[in-house]
Amino acid sequence: MKLTILMYHKIDEVPPDARYPGNYVSPDQFAQQLDALLEWGYQTITFEEWLRYRSGGSWRFRARPVIITFDDGYTCFDRNAWPALRQRDMTATVFLVAGQIGGTNAWDSDERQEPLLDAKRIRELQNEGVRFGSHSLTHVPLARVPERHAMRELSESRSQLGDLLDAPPDVFAFPFSNQSADVRRLAREAGYLAAVRGGGRMNARRTDPYGLRRIKPEPDMTIARLRRVLFFERYFSLS
Ligand SMILES: [Zn+2]
Repeated sequence: MKLTILMYHKIDEVPPDARYPGNYVSPDQFAQQLDALLEWGYQTITFEEWLRYRSGGSWRFRARPVIITFDDGYTCFDRNAWPALRQRDMTATVFLVAGQIGGTNAWDSDERQEPLLDAKRIRELQNEGVRFGSHSLTHVPLARVPERHAMRELSESRSQLGDLLDAPPDVFAFPFSNQSADVRRLAREAGYLAAVRGGGRMNARRTDPYGLRRIKPEPDMTIARLRRVLFFERYFSLS
């Protein structure tokens, strides 16, 4: 069984002054992608369910598994993505920057600043079924900072989010998908059970759980193109 993990950032129309339009998918496109995934036999699962299967559990899903993830925790997730997911009985995992709860994408100083989910709304969304993971404390590229700094980003974000969510998160998303063997080891030492990067591939049962790969639907990706990517990965890739 191969696991597909999709990576989104903002579900919104691309503003004219966006510096990185590749991080936007329009609400219409997103809804079409969800409908297509359901039509192709995909079912959203949680990281917990994948990890249980991976450690020897049996496969109890009737469909192709997909985890839908959102990096950074923008409020447009709440406005545009979560209603579309809920309507279809689908789940999602949102990776939060612990030091910017209720703030903005301050780490992207050259990008337009967008609001991030605040603590109250995060707790409400958790009660509604959204899963949350850590996306570090300040969104620094972990493989490019000293090891002590990287460890602080991993462990302090985990404990701060643990206070917010009543349990420390099990999954970490590497900021900028920047990682290395050392950083993957630190993620394990900090107590995470899994971590995700980019990479554009699906995952096999043997894939390193601290280097899970994600496929990023780009704003210009048609449904036909998404179908080709998923088909190729499922049947021809050796990942
Ligand atoms: Zn990010």
